[in-house]
Amino acid sequence: MPTTTAVDIYDEIEALKVREDAAILAHYYQDGEIQELADITGDSLKLAREATKITNRTIVFCGVHFMAETAKMLNPEKRVLLPDMGAGCSLSDSCPAPALERRQNQLRAEGRRFQTVTYINSTAAVKALSDWVVTSGNAEEIIRRVPDDVEILFVPDRHLGQYLIEVTGRPMILWDGSCMVHEVFSVGDLLRLKRRMPESLTIAHPECPTNIREQSEFVGGTEAMIKYVARYEAPTDFLVATEANMLWQLEAKVPRHRYHPVPGVTCACNKCPHMARNTLEKLRDCLAHGTPEILWQPQFERAAEVLRRSLLDPSAK
Ligand code: SF4
Repeated sequence: MPTTTAVDIYDEIEALKVREDAAILAHYYQDGEIQELADITGDSLKLAREATKITNRTIVFCGVHFMAETAKMLNPEKRVLLPDMGAGCSLSDSCPAPALERRQNQLRAEGRRFQTVTYINSTAAVKALSDWVVTSGNAEEIIRRVPDDVEILFVPDRHLGQYLIEVTGRPMILWDGSCMVHEVFSVGDLLRLKRRMPESLTIAHPECPTNIREQSEFVGGTEAMIKYVARYEAPTDFLVATEANMLWQLEAKVPRHRYHPVPGVTCACNKCPHMARNTLEKLRDCLAHGTPEILWQPQFERAAEVLRRSLLDPSAK
């Protein structure tokens, strides 16, 4: 039950949305109270695609910095606001553009022919150095588009890269990056939960390490998780290995099941501290004051081209 203060903030945000002609987009890893207010919720792929269809003048992106940046790249004419400009991403930070450029130059100096396939959790400068940008929702399909006689440099997530090697059979040169949230799931705790609930099914995000994926009945991005649990008619216990706010979305979309978070080694809840920087108060304030705003940067031009051909053009080669 929301408190009076929360109800007041909901009303304020709804009024500001109308005043500012704004649409709110929220990632599945945002707090449930923010997802509830959003016009569109989704994973990175869905939100990037939906952002191109919005007719409002302003997009408020409740997610982390690279996601809001992506929305701006695909909508240069719109005002894109991010409630907290400090909402970063450990995975994106693990691949700085100058380091990627050095690695690419090294491979070229060795005479190797390769294409750079980049997970969307990356800065605009890294996307601008890439041939393709993928999400967990379309990575397999894009990798199959890379010609067989060309190597693949996959950045920045080594766990997702390893998973893609397994499902596509395609060897890849992997960058050594990872997400701080998905890295810490405890396989010991998962096995204990499975012993306690032998009928349960485990669903894991492909950013999880191999030892968690190996113990899972299903591996897929957040959008794919929703489709997977919806296939089960009878109420089922699902053990969920991804950011803990995803449980809110699963409960909202497919409420007949019970969902249990897989605990982490260092934290029982597995909430992303970067996503958690966005709050209802900051959402209200950014709408009220029109800031923080994602401003257009010169490197967005090339990054936007790569994004468009990867996410919006199914015929691109
Ligand atoms: S959950 Fe991981 S990949 Fe997603 S924003 Fe947080 S740190 Fe980045």
